[in-house]
Amino acid sequence: MDSDTFREFGKAAVDFIADYMDSIRDCDVLSSVAPGYLFDLLPKEIPEKPEDYKTILKDIHDVIKPGITHWQSPNMHAFYPTASSFPSIVGEMLSAGFGVIGFNWICSPACTELEVVVMDYLAKFLNLPKEFMHSSEGPGGGIIQGSASEAVLVAVIAARDEAVRRIKAERPDMSESDIRGKLIAYSSDQSNSCVEKAGVLAALPIKLLPTDDDLILHGETLQKAIEEDISNGLIPVICIATLGTTGTCAYDDIVTLGPVCQKYNVWLHVDAAYAGATFALDEYAHLRFGMEMVDSFNFNMHKMLMINFDCTAMWLRDANRVIDVFSVDRIYLKHKYEGQSQIPDFRNWQIPLGRRFRALKVWITLRIYGAEGLRTQIRKHIELAKRFERFVVADERFEIVFKSTLGLVCFRPKGANEITTNLLARITERKKIYLIQANHKAKHFLRFVVCGMDPKEHDIDFAWQEIQQQLCELLQPDSKQSVPAALEDNVKNEKEEIVFGKSEIGAITQQLSNDLHISVGCEKSK
Ligand code: PLP
Repeated sequence: MDSDTFREFGKAAVDFIADYMDSIRDCDVLSSVAPGYLFDLLPKEIPEKPEDYKTILKDIHDVIKPGITHWQSPNMHAFYPTASSFPSIVGEMLSAGFGVIGFNWICSPACTELEVVVMDYLAKFLNLPKEFMHSSEGPGGGIIQGSASEAVLVAVIAARDEAVRRIKAERPDMSESDIRGKLIAYSSDQSNSCVEKAGVLAALPIKLLPTDDDLILHGETLQKAIEEDISNGLIPVICIATLGTTGTCAYDDIVTLGPVCQKYNVWLHVDAAYAGATFALDEYAHLRFGMEMVDSFNFNMHKMLMINFDCTAMWLRDANRVIDVFSVDRIYLKHKYEGQSQIPDFRNWQIPLGRRFRALKVWITLRIYGAEGLRTQIRKHIELAKRFERFVVADERFEIVFKSTLGLVCFRPKGANEITTNLLARITERKKIYLIQANHKAKHFLRFVVCGMDPKEHDIDFAWQEIQQQLCELLQPDSKQSVPAALEDNVKNEKEEIVFGKSEIGAITQQLSNDLHISVGCEKSK
C-alpha cells in the first residue's frame, strides 16, 4: 500500500470510528450472533490476490461489527469500564505509525523517556508517596504494563525469588527446592482471579483469606494466617491486597495490613485496578491511607482514565527488587548508554522483552483533558452511579446489597435468587443493556457499573427503565410497564408528580424517588 492509499484508508477508518461512536446508542450492546457465526462468513484461506481497502472496510461494517460487544457503549454496565477516548485512539494510531519496540533506551529513547515522564506525572496526579517517582532520590519508579494481571505477576515472581535468595543466605542448610516448597502468599477471597492465576504461574500457593461482612481483608486476619504458617514451617512471601475488589469494590484495610507485612518481611502489593484512579480526588484521600507501607501498586488507566486497553500503571518503591530478579542480559541488548541513572531498562521490570510505545497515548490523553478534565471524568462516573443508586433505593421492590462505591451499585430485586437470575436472563436476552450478576453468602445480586466512552444521565435512566420494565414483566407476565419516554425530562421537572400506568397493580407501583416526585407503575398489556 502506498502512502496515498494509506491516507485514504486511514481517513476512512477514522470516519468509521467517529460514525461508530456517534451512533453507538443505536446498537444493542450485546451482539445477536451465534457461536461460530464468523467461520461461515469468511473464506477459508487468505485471498490469493490483493483486496481493496474499501471492500475490507465494508466487511468490517457488515461482518465484524455484528459480532462486537459494544464496550464503549454507555449501555454497557458489566465488569468494570474500559473507557477509551478519541485522544487515546489517536495516540494508539501514532504509536503504531512509529512501530517501535522499546527493548531498551537505544531502541527508541522517546519510548523509554516519555514513559518515565508520564509515570511521574501520574504519580503526582494520584498523590502517591514520592518514593514511587523516578525523579525521587531513591530506587523507585513507575512502568506501564499491559494489564493488572501482568503487574500482579511481576510482583509475585519478584517477591518469590527475592525470598528464595534471602532464605538461601540465612539458611545455607536448606536446598533451593526445600525453600521453594515452603513459600506461601496471601490475598483475600475477594481478590481478582488474576491473583490466583499469578500464584499458579509462579508456582507459589496463594491463600485466599476470609474477609469481614463488608468483604474487607484486615491485618488481624493476615497476622493470624502468617503466624500459623510460620509455626508450620512455611515462609510468607507476599500479600496482594485489593483497593476496589472486582465483585463489590471493597477496599482492603491497607492501614492494618501494612504493619503486619512489615513485621514479617512480607511484600505488600496493592491491586487498585479499578479504584486507583480515585487517588486523584481529595474526597477519596482516605483510600490512600497506608500507601507509605506499600511496596508495589497498580491501577488500570484503561478503566476510568479514558486510555484504551491495554494500559496498566505499576509503581515500585524499590524497582531494584524486580530488576535483580528479572535481569537477563545478552550482547545484542548492550549499548553505550546502558546503566545511566534516570534511564530505566524497562525490559527488566516486566515479563516480555518487547515494549509497546504506550506512553504516547497516555501523554496525549493527559494533555488533551488535563488533570482537571480527568478528575471531572472520574467524578462523573461516581455521580452517575449515585443517580442509579437513588433510583434503586426509591423503588421498594429492590434492595441495595452492598454500600455503593465509585461507579458500582450492587443491587437485587427483593426475594428469591431466582428472581435475580431470571431478571438478568431477560435483560441479557433483550441486549439493550449488559449487566452481570455476582453472589455472596448464597445471595445473588446484580452489578451495575457506569461504563462506556461518554455515559450521560439519560443513559442511566434508560438502563433503569429497562430493569424496571423487565422486572414488571417477570413478576406479572401478562403486564407490561409503562415508563416515561424521557425520564430525564421528568428529572428536570422536579416538582411535577407524573403517574404512569394503571393503579390496579398498586403493589408494584412505587415512588421512584422522593426528591424527583416521579412514580412508575406496571400496566396490564391488552
Ligand atoms: N484486579 C481487579 C480488581 C480487577 O477488577 C480486574 C479486572 O477487572 C483485574 C485485576 C484484571 O485486570 P486486567 O484485565 O488488566 O488484567
